[in-house]
Amino acid sequence: MQFSGLQYRRWQQASLVGLLITILTGCQRPESGQQPGMFQLPMEYLYLMQTPLPAQLPVPVQGVKPQQIADTWGAARSQGRSHEGVDIFAKRGTPVLSTTEGMVMSVGINTLGGNVVWVLGPDMSRHYYAHLESYGQFKKGDWIKAGDVIGYVGNSGNARTTPPHLHYGIYRNAEGAINPYPYLSRK
Ligand SMILES: [Zn+2]
Repeated sequence: MQFSGLQYRRWQQASLVGLLITILTGCQRPESGQQPGMFQLPMEYLYLMQTPLPAQLPVPVQGVKPQQIADTWGAARSQGRSHEGVDIFAKRGTPVLSTTEGMVMSVGINTLGGNVVWVLGPDMSRHYYAHLESYGQFKKGDWIKAGDVIGYVGNSGNARTTPPHLHYGIYRNAEGAINPYPYLSRK
């Protein structure tokens, strides 16, 4: 059977519609190098939204005990800033361990923090690990567990004149930065 001119055009249109549906419904996996986001990993986001942040978290530097940490929340810092985290001193290269499970949101460099990692944790809390010497084996978008290596203690960023330490911060959506010290100390 031969296509008439009209039938051929209809067939072309149907193919085009099929192709558009395929593209719009996105039946392909993300290209390599594309970062998974809220729409690629909705189950992980839902899980983090529904999981409460534990009241006690492990100390994020290997071998450091809660009693060795000082509460320096609110202490004065340069340019009128106040300290929005806790500093945990340790030998350069000591492993920094994630306090929570969650998703790596960012791995990068900033002026104050130097080499930093952000993790999205339970109840959408954000965990900030700064002044790292180097990073662990993961990339943005990866899922990590509590105790996984975030990186290694250093003094990058504005800590280059101080002994190596981890600056650890916790941020909540409603309150912004909160004091991590009560989460790390054992009452
Ligand atoms: Zn600090």
